[in-house]
Amino acid sequence: MSKIRILPDALASQVAAGEVVERPAALVRELVENSLDAGARHIEVHAQRGGSALIRIVDDGTGMDREDAMLCLERHATSKIRTKEDLGAIRTFGFRGEALPSIASVSRFRLATREKDALVGTEIEVNGGKLSAVRDHGGASGTVIEARSLFFNVPARRKFLRAENTEFAHVEQQLRLHAIANPQVAFTLTHNGELVLHLPATRDMLERIRGLVGDELASRLLKVEEQTFRGVTVSGYIGGPGMSRSNRQMQTTYLNGRPIESASISYGLREGYHTALMKGQHPVTFLFIQMEPQAFDVNVHPAKKEVRFHDGNGVREAIARGVSRTLENAAKLPSGHVPAGRMASSAAQTPARPEILMSEEHQEVLPIQAPTSAAPLRQLPAVPAAFSGAATKPQEVIAPVPEPGGPPAPPAPAASDFRIIGVLRKLYVLMEGAEGLVLMDQHAAHERVNFEKFRRALEAGGVPCQRLLMPITLQTTPRDSDLLRQNQDALNRLGIEIEPFGPNIFKVEAVPAFLRADDPAAWLDHVIEELGSLSAKTSSLRLSEDAIATTACRASVKSNDVLSIPELQALLKDLFACEMPYCCPHGRPTLVQISVAELERKFGRRAPG
Ligand code: ADP
Ligand code: MG
Repeated sequence: MSKIRILPDALASQVAAGEVVERPAALVRELVENSLDAGARHIEVHAQRGGSALIRIVDDGTGMDREDAMLCLERHATSKIRTKEDLGAIRTFGFRGEALPSIASVSRFRLATREKDALVGTEIEVNGGKLSAVRDHGGASGTVIEARSLFFNVPARRKFLRAENTEFAHVEQQLRLHAIANPQVAFTLTHNGELVLHLPATRDMLERIRGLVGDELASRLLKVEEQTFRGVTVSGYIGGPGMSRSNRQMQTTYLNGRPIESASISYGLREGYHTALMKGQHPVTFLFIQMEPQAFDVNVHPAKKEVRFHDGNGVREAIARGVSRTLENAAKLPSGHVPAGRMASSAAQTPARPEILMSEEHQEVLPIQAPTSAAPLRQLPAVPAAFSGAATKPQEVIAPVPEPGGPPAPPAPAASDFRIIGVLRKLYVLMEGAEGLVLMDQHAAHERVNFEKFRRALEAGGVPCQRLLMPITLQTTPRDSDLLRQNQDALNRLGIEIEPFGPNIFKVEAVPAFLRADDPAAWLDHVIEELGSLSAKTSSLRLSEDAIATTACRASVKSNDVLSIPELQALLKDLFACEMPYCCPHGRPTLVQISVAELERKFGRRAPG
């Protein structure tokens, strides 16, 4: 007897729903994308109990006529593609025509929609996939979609919903992702009737980012000037050297406006930041990639979160270039210290300098959903009452475009701007600067100085080496042996004279002249380890840079080395002569500042905030 059955339609929808709508945040993603595809300028999202009791989306997009309103609830009903060719050139968020039927099959669903010029609109109710009512609708033009009691008819799935706060955090994160990519659209988010986010429309992306992450962080982002490489256009805003997070929540990347994650992108970021990012940390990015839709496939992930690039290497390299150029340019900029909390419109135009880390920044790990101390949301005006289902056209709230040309930037800091006060724990050099107390990590600073010195030597055609009185014989594993053979040239250029001396045995006759290490064999082990940890994709330049970073670290003064004041002054001078003075080659900060204002707050001489 045959065992295969064709599933009844309602059941098939529920199965499909599992892939598309795994939690309330997924509804928000699908519904907001639909609103954006429908050209909405205002989008409201209302959630109750983390979204599992209710998600309601109100938009002022095109709306649908009755026929479309009925059709959109059928599976594979979409207005966005027609032919197989269209699938290869998708410019909309949606195209599968499965979100609405999926959502309607696992909730108490209501759709109310009216086209702009239509006299009446349509209201449809669906209960767990069963059509229960169709009537006229007299509300505002645009579309309202409500999904109540998510998974009420699929208890197995309902069990997987997390605590209210967790689900809502995902909802909010999802909305933030879309809000960043669409500054020209106004967004409102409420939870249990309370206003959580209100973002007026603006033409300025940085303004939108500021509304979401607060002034302090936004003012310290660097602008990635739009640039194209191998058909990949990159632009946006990224954190400067030393600005990082322990999770990926602030690493946001978009492809043609769609928030996505991709290994090629992550590699590109990592490569671009390279020594400006601490190992194990993630950068803060709002990075936008534009590509022809033919150059990638979005139809590989049920939630369209991942994409497949036809030329992943091109994407990786375009991003790496964009990021490294931005960091390099920023390091060359004169440093205009943008005071924290300043809403200066000029900040939108002038990239912030690679700043001396503020002390708070160094300690905090700020997840994107956490309300920032600047609490930008609560201070904003309340939701325009006109925009909640009423028939009036919502007011267009476009923030003024900032006037070009900000205040003249002060000159870059120099060693002479700082007065050395003393040394703490034989490591932290305490200094007085124009804005307060500045601490320099003498080891990190020396590492940066050495790193750039060695790199220059390498670029100038090789590093001077010192012959060893007793050549070192290295016994290696077959794998390390291969690595050493493959990289022999690069190692020679690094000042390491190494050659095969038998099966899996190498002889080292010379090491870099600047190496202070008292145990060259241990240092070599370290270099080999470093070689092994570099991915095959890493270019040979990066490889030598990594090896140099290790060398620089080994050759640098340690935390217990006592330096004289003139030595410290020389170190500070060398540091400010560096291309990227504010972090060591491993991305740790070299300088940390505690501003006078912060001290005044701590001593109660100034009101907090
Ligand atoms: P897809 O987005 O893949 O086309 P959906 O199931 O999400 O599939 O939506 C089906 C269709 O319903 C869309 O193609 C669109 O024509 C229509 N639609 C959905 N949401 C809206 C909306 N908010 N405003 C106008 N039309 C919408
Ligand atoms: Mg859709």
